[in-house]
Amino acid sequence: MDKEQIEKLAKDPRFIPGIYNYCDRWCERCAFTSQCMNYALSEDEIDNPQTQDITNKAFWDQLHDIFKITFEMLEESAKEMGIDLDAIDSEEFAKQQEQIRKTVKRQPFTRAALAYTKMVDAWFKSNKDLLEEKGNELCSLAEAEIPGTRPVKEALRIQDCLEIVRWYQNQIYVKLCRAASGMIRGELENNEYSPQDANGSAKVAIIGIEHSIAAWGGLLNHFPQQEGSFLDLLVHLNRLLRQVEAAFPDARAFTRPGFDA
Ligand code: SF4
Repeated sequence: MDKEQIEKLAKDPRFIPGIYNYCDRWCERCAFTSQCMNYALSEDEIDNPQTQDITNKAFWDQLHDIFKITFEMLEESAKEMGIDLDAIDSEEFAKQQEQIRKTVKRQPFTRAALAYTKMVDAWFKSNKDLLEEKGNELCSLAEAEIPGTRPVKEALRIQDCLEIVRWYQNQIYVKLCRAASGMIRGELENNEYSPQDANGSAKVAIIGIEHSIAAWGGLLNHFPQQEGSFLDLLVHLNRLLRQVEAAFPDARAFTRPGFDA
């Protein structure tokens, strides 16, 4: 896809402007695929396995094209806004970015979110056998067709909870880093857009935390022997939720295009 095709697509009225900026990127479960330009753009890639394979030249060619088109569009937008990109002091800019990055990592909520990603990895690592045993047990029950048992339904519920946990595990951290950087940038540059964008990212993180809490709670029904470790995770997530709500009190009120309006 070239720049002209992208620009034409951007003008298509069936798309909700900016819907992809504040979603959870779980397109397989999204009700707005037909109204999302990002989904339409990625459909070609999904259909072509070569562009999905990092070891294939087609993957790198496509990445190169994306960067080239993005830079051209960025240059055009800057020109329209009267910004001279060459006048930006790149050394000073890099220094400021590094400062922002460090401040982002120091926030209690980003630290807690990073710790959560590690807690989840640790849980999966130490409970590999437990999950395997449960799978075998449910398979045996399904084969035996014992009246009153619903092993397939139980297996699907467990799978759903595990997928939810894995989907949001790292996304919560990434979204909170973006939210923190928007908050800091807003203060440094005194602009209105960054804090709003920060609230949008924080809202996506909040939704991810809440889905994860529900998923761990769901898993507790199927693995009651794991109560201790699930409670640790739930307490950690609840604390993280309180921290995010305190740092971004307007996040819940943020209107995500398409999803909330
Ligand atoms: S809005 Fe939906 S379809 Fe578009 S990128 Fe986000 S999850 Fe995928």
